[in-house]
Amino acid sequence: MPTTAALSTPSAGAPFERTTIERREPGPRDVRIDVRFCGICHSDIHQAQGDWGAGIFPMVPGHEIAGVVAAVGAEVESFSEGDRVGVGCFVDSCRECEYCEAGEEQFCTKGVVLTYNGKGYDGEPTDGGYSSEIVVADRFVVRIPDELELDVAAPLLCAGITTYSPLKRWGAGEGKRVAIVGMGGLGHVGVQIAHAMGAEVTVLSQTLSKEEDGKRLGADHYYATSEKETFRELRGTFDLILNTVSANLPVDRYLSMLRIDGAMVNVGAPAESDTYNAFSLIGGRRSLAGSNVGGMPETQEMLDFCAANGVKAQIETIGADDVDAAYERISASDVRYRCVIDAATLEA
Ligand code: NAP
Ligand code: ZN
Ligand code: ZN
Repeated sequence: MPTTAALSTPSAGAPFERTTIERREPGPRDVRIDVRFCGICHSDIHQAQGDWGAGIFPMVPGHEIAGVVAAVGAEVESFSEGDRVGVGCFVDSCRECEYCEAGEEQFCTKGVVLTYNGKGYDGEPTDGGYSSEIVVADRFVVRIPDELELDVAAPLLCAGITTYSPLKRWGAGEGKRVAIVGMGGLGHVGVQIAHAMGAEVTVLSQTLSKEEDGKRLGADHYYATSEKETFRELRGTFDLILNTVSANLPVDRYLSMLRIDGAMVNVGAPAESDTYNAFSLIGGRRSLAGSNVGGMPETQEMLDFCAANGVKAQIETIGADDVDAAYERISASDVRYRCVIDAATLEA
């Protein structure tokens, strides 16, 4: 089997090592992709550190993949060599359950095959985008529009779809007040998307240190949640609160900022459980919900939307040797706003 350069962590929390991994020969419906850039999502950190339970090690993370098609199988019609493409959080599903048929493969009843830290239906562990090449079935590959450079497009494959999908489903748009909690990788893309959808956007960040960036990206208002006044002042304000925070929050205080019938949607996935008081929901007929990336058709729709509206990730490009340090900086909310690995540095 062909091998490719990769970055792998041998056990939970251990530093990354340069290695080579095997990639299958493309089958008739497979696309072989030269990875050019791969974003670092906080989910990579959670999984590489074992936050969500035992992972599969050695682990090659990465599910924000942008690259160029190197070869396609004989039956692939929608892609050809040289096309600019992306791969997100999953690389296979049963393709026949009700959710797969609806293009919501992330909810596949057989279990979606994660891009990494998963097992294919052949039982083999999957390896993600911190690698030079990846081979993926055509159904799970999307086209990156020409308007988007590959490096700033890469993070959209997770951060973009994870914010686009709930913003659309919960009706972010004209006349809607939307709060984005956390101005990180997901949050800074969510602000742009919610603004492009026409909503009145508020960022709720721990401090005001990123206010200028937030407003430049489309936020109408910006508040620090470290200030108690914020919660009092914003009581009953929002139709939708999108929580992108990687840590636990005092959920009741956030729910109190919702209008009657408002919804707080969690995409942040901390290691520990959150708690809330039933009256925080009952008192305002409010909803507390969650959302999980998005299906393939919606991922393509999101990329086309971002291209049409100038939505791009703000990135820091890093080399293969900088990933451990990047994990620390991301965990300290010190990155503006997404680290992207330049895959050319994997071979060196
Ligand atoms: P990130 O870049 O680290 O951003 C998270 C932001 O949360 C930080 O920038 C910070 O924003 C805020 N934050 C961090 N610690 C906090 C604390 N203790 N209290 C309050 N706010 C805090 O992470 P990300 O890549 O955007 O991912 C965010 C979360 O979403 C992770 O848990 C990730 O696993 C999850 N995720 C879920 C899905 C899904 O499908 N549901 C998909 C992708 C990622 P400020 O500096 O502005 O305060
Ligand atoms: Zn992710
Ligand atoms: Zn299915």
